[in-house]
Amino acid sequence: MQFHLNGFKTGDPVVQEPNPDAAFLADTDSLPEDVDVLIVGCGPAGLTLAAQLAAFPEIRTRIVEQKAGPLQLGQADGVACRTMEMFEAFGFAERLEKEAYWVNETTFWKPDPASPDKIARSGRVQDVEDGLSEFPHVILNQARVHDFYLEIMRNSPNRLEPNYSRRLVNLEVDYDPGHERPVTVHLERTDPGHEGETETVRAKYVVGCDGARSVVRKALGRELKGDSANQAWGVMDVLAVTDFPDIRFKSLVQSAREGSILIIPREGGYLVRIYVELDKLRPDERVANRNITVEHLIAAAGRILHPYSIDVKEVAWWSVYEIGQRLCDKFDDVPTEDASSRLPRVFIAGDACHTHSPKAGQGMNVSMQDTFNLGWKLAHVLKGLSKPDLLASYSAERQAIAQNLIDFDREWAKLVSAPVKSDSNPDGVDPAEVQKYFVQHGRYTAGTASRYLPSVLTGGGEHQHLAEGFQIGMRFHSAPVVRLADAKPLQLGHVIKADGRWRLFAFAGRDDPVAGTSAIRLLCDFLEKDASSPVLRHTAEGEDIDAVIDLRVVFQQGHRDLALAGMPSLLQPPKGRYGLRDYEKLFCPDLKSGCDIFDMRGIDRGKGCVVIVRPDQYVAEVLPLEAFESLSSYFNRILKRRQ
Ligand code: FAD
Repeated sequence: MQFHLNGFKTGDPVVQEPNPDAAFLADTDSLPEDVDVLIVGCGPAGLTLAAQLAAFPEIRTRIVEQKAGPLQLGQADGVACRTMEMFEAFGFAERLEKEAYWVNETTFWKPDPASPDKIARSGRVQDVEDGLSEFPHVILNQARVHDFYLEIMRNSPNRLEPNYSRRLVNLEVDYDPGHERPVTVHLERTDPGHEGETETVRAKYVVGCDGARSVVRKALGRELKGDSANQAWGVMDVLAVTDFPDIRFKSLVQSAREGSILIIPREGGYLVRIYVELDKLRPDERVANRNITVEHLIAAAGRILHPYSIDVKEVAWWSVYEIGQRLCDKFDDVPTEDASSRLPRVFIAGDACHTHSPKAGQGMNVSMQDTFNLGWKLAHVLKGLSKPDLLASYSAERQAIAQNLIDFDREWAKLVSAPVKSDSNPDGVDPAEVQKYFVQHGRYTAGTASRYLPSVLTGGGEHQHLAEGFQIGMRFHSAPVVRLADAKPLQLGHVIKADGRWRLFAFAGRDDPVAGTSAIRLLCDFLEKDASSPVLRHTAEGEDIDAVIDLRVVFQQGHRDLALAGMPSLLQPPKGRYGLRDYEKLFCPDLKSGCDIFDMRGIDRGKGCVVIVRPDQYVAEVLPLEAFESLSSYFNRILKRRQ
């Protein structure tokens, strides 16, 4: 973590200097009439976006929530490896790692062939394949994830706090060009003493993160389409005494006649979540009509676990969660036929535009990735770095990812819910098949298989062979390195912060990096001095040289075989009001640990390469070190010229 750049400061470095406007923005009692971005809903999608936009004090962001305060209990709890990578960029992955349960192995139980009314363990697998991510798959209450985001917002220059007890009633968009704040939002207060009072806010952009029953979605005339047969899940977080031996493993238990449960051990060592699949509901039926109580769920879990017993001592939270696999065809307010003439002003994200079963633990994860994708794009447009047409890529990219998720979830949910194959039920599913599917799709559930298709933002793969392990369109797969200036071992991916900046990771060829003709020196000279350099073109006068595009270089030599002296000046740039040098741009492989990033990520040692990484950690393009023109033209397509 870097700080003190613009002068020595005492205290906690994560608490940032307040923006002089902050007192106004932190006012949770009243809403301003005009904002840049209004976010509706304090779920994981809304809070990820709010935390991201809080990094930009010049953007006036507000987030409203109909509930009276922060979530305390329940809802989702699975945090995929990919999400942990994103949390690292926000700065709280380490805290989450400490507090959470780690899903290291998963077990599978099926009817005992010798005595089918009893269950027996049929398999045990590693949950996440080796090397998939530097982070584990963890379980932590959604409410705690919310807390971490709220803390980031509170520590940001604008001291952003949600406005609770505000229910969005409706919104309209005036498409007349020339309107600076074309979206008008009507809200109703629900807090004591103010019930029924209405407020109107005008915004440049509105993002509906308001869950499966989204009012924003309805205001756009969009619909969640898909499986109308609702699935119902009973879910309970319990403290229990049991002789079931795998109670501290994530376990899928399929009984012969009593149905299935999914056991998810929880943070703290004692708490456990149990999902009980209830029958499919009829289209006109609601779970509430069935009078399901937590006692029903406890009894079902007891029957399924036979011959083991479970004595529930305390129920911390329980719910019946009804869900269908549904998806919107577009995640913004622009009809497909108007895409060439109109730009988006209103977006929907998370459960507002896709819902799926909790079985694969994806709901919260994918929702947060939606708004991590949108956040930097909104910031680029509002800060004048990019033209507004960048915003159209949000729906295009995220709708395709959601479609894949729905397809996967449908298949997985079908397998888990199917009756167990037996002599009396030959059409059932063999639990071994379920286990096989789980292992095969491990990358998918870890969130690391998402891939953006070629587009303005995502390169076509012409030079992919220069770095096979940094797949274009997929998230930047971190690997260990050693920082040259101070020999600190660290993960290269962790230099990417949720600060809206682009990263250029240049991997040097074998040649001497300080030689006058080395490819790295020529690249640095181009980026620092040439009129067509993207670093110069897209950075405004007076900004630090890495304010928009941050170059980092990884050499092949060990860190004791290279010296800072003689390195290109762009790799130790003067920054801030004192012109202090940034020493954190240069890295070497972590040879002592035996993990050479060049081997791990299949980087061409002869030629090296440049990897362009988007602000949301996705690999945008891989280019040869000397492809200056391609590098410039990539950024020209996305960023505005600023000098
Ligand atoms: P949400 O988390 O639903 O957040 C939406 C927010 O918007 C809410 O805080 C809501 O109060 C607010 N809001 C809604 N309408 C308005 C309005 N008009 N005005 C202002 N604010 C509004 N997933 C699992 O994987 N496992 C589970 O067991 C599980 N259980 C769940 C139980 C419940 C009761 C719910 C609602 C969801 C559950 N989920 C579960 C789903 C998971 O929580 C979601 O996939 C995830 O939270 C999606 O995040 P989101 O931010 O898109 O929406």
